[in-house]
Amino acid sequence: MLSTAIEVPSEVSEMKLRRRGLLGGFNRFRLMLTLGLAVLLPAAALIYVNFSQLRTFERDKVLEKAIHRDFQEMLAITEKKINKKAVSMTEDARNLFPSPGSDVEAKEKKLDEILAKSPWLAHAFLYEEDVMVFRSQSDQMEKDRYLRKEHEHMAESYNTWFGSEGKALVEGLYKKKRQMTFITGPIKRADCNAYGMTVVFALPQYSKEDVVIAGVSFDPCYLQQTFFPGVLNEQVTEKLTEQGGNQVAMMVYPVEMEMAPGAKPLATSAGWGEGEPEVSRKLDDVFRGLALGIKYQGTSVEALGQTWVHRSFLILGFLSLMIIGGLVLTRHIVNKELALARLKSDFVSNVSHELRTPLALIRLYAETLELGRITTGDKKQRYYRIIRKESERLTALINNILDFSRIEAGRKEYEFRNTDIAELVHNTLESYRYQIEQQGFAFEENIDPNLPAVPVDREAIARALVNLVNNALKYSQDEKFLGVKLYRDNGVVKLEVADHGIGITRRDQSKIFEKFYRAGDPLVHNTKGSGLGLSLVRHITQAHGGEIAVESTPGKGSRFILSLPLSAAAQQPAVS
Ligand code: ADP
Repeated sequence: MLSTAIEVPSEVSEMKLRRRGLLGGFNRFRLMLTLGLAVLLPAAALIYVNFSQLRTFERDKVLEKAIHRDFQEMLAITEKKINKKAVSMTEDARNLFPSPGSDVEAKEKKLDEILAKSPWLAHAFLYEEDVMVFRSQSDQMEKDRYLRKEHEHMAESYNTWFGSEGKALVEGLYKKKRQMTFITGPIKRADCNAYGMTVVFALPQYSKEDVVIAGVSFDPCYLQQTFFPGVLNEQVTEKLTEQGGNQVAMMVYPVEMEMAPGAKPLATSAGWGEGEPEVSRKLDDVFRGLALGIKYQGTSVEALGQTWVHRSFLILGFLSLMIIGGLVLTRHIVNKELALARLKSDFVSNVSHELRTPLALIRLYAETLELGRITTGDKKQRYYRIIRKESERLTALINNILDFSRIEAGRKEYEFRNTDIAELVHNTLESYRYQIEQQGFAFEENIDPNLPAVPVDREAIARALVNLVNNALKYSQDEKFLGVKLYRDNGVVKLEVADHGIGITRRDQSKIFEKFYRAGDPLVHNTKGSGLGLSLVRHITQAHGGEIAVESTPGKGSRFILSLPLSAAAQQPAVS
């Protein structure tokens, strides 16, 4: 757009600027304050609370406690299973015991039968009327001297025990729920050093008054190698299928050992490996003297807790980074929006000024002519020309604004027609020639006459050219030169508008095509403009499938190069 001669007093514009700056600053401060209060503060509080909670978490070992509770529960369940299984096996054997009235021989036979049926038992015995029948696994007795010794010792000591305390023992047994009592202790065998368990029980088929005491001893090797590992493995697998997560391992060990480092457990589930149990539980019913232990396979609760805390810290750190990133982005967007708002308000004041100035001139000259005071034909001509020029400028400005608003609303349409572009450019320049030369510009027009017809929107291309020419006139100071070239280059037609004006810095070159953008040069500030011209030029060029480029050196001048494709196929829908 062309600049006008009317100058705004510098103090006024300075004041305006200062006020605007103050207002902008205040707005930004308010926005930042809102941002700070609404987002930053809660985010910071959240991060702080989480971090401190995590730290207390680490200290309190809440997680460890929870896992320990879980482990305790699992051990309690396991003990119940172990007891239930041992009791049920004992009951099975008890049911096979002879009925009252059998003679010794029959009893021996019956007990041998029980032992044959239940290879996991080492001994079976029956004490009735001061007679003890004590049988053991015969084939093993032959092989294992420890078992032989144990047989002799037990038969004798139990006989003595039942002889002296039989009555009280029977009474005691009948008071118990299962009428059983359990005796455990370490046992030596040829094949294993382990724990044995003997159950002493009453027989329901006998009267409560009779001193009849029976019992069986579990084979220690069976307990160690089959019974315990079986139950433990079953429990471990059950836990994994029910709850998933880290796999646990369990073991049974004698209490006296108290899991001294390096001490060997009695029996373990799969995956125990080495190390001490995380949580233990002393068995106090059937297997008194033994304890259960549990831990995670390949890791410890402490390590798990640490990993958990580390992971939480990492997640929190990542979230914090995201929040910070979000804040930075928001700040950036807010700043951009504020800048755009400032540009828009600049635009409104510039445009209203640009509208007012030509209108005032038109009115002034029209009134002067109307009064009939101008007598010389020459002067009249001059006044008519000014009125025409100013109204042309008004039209150009209004066209730009209308185009811009159409583009913004996505309603801008182009009408492409095969056009003699050389003629279009020449005619457009012709209508400006007088003005260009009037302003003291050296004007060079260089148009290739042999150009083919190009599919373009005539009006749009003329508007683009006018905008470029106007800019060249507006932004030239000492050296007034305007060069327009139109030529063919490969598959495109190039339209160049060059000046020897103030030039554009490299930084500004990438921004001048944005809407409302105006460079910070003092001449630009003092020249009125809307910041719309180049954004329109770019839109028009892109709609033609072409592109716009600028080459410029500050202080030396600028060259805008508009390339338009020769073929219609290259045309693209308008891009705003
Ligand atoms: P306006 O001229 O109304 O400010 P434009 O969109 O036409 O808006 O131009 C945007 C900015 O690009 C101008 O404010 C000016 O800073 C810069 N500019 C455009 N053309 C030239 C030129 N020929 N020489 C120097 N600067 C220019």
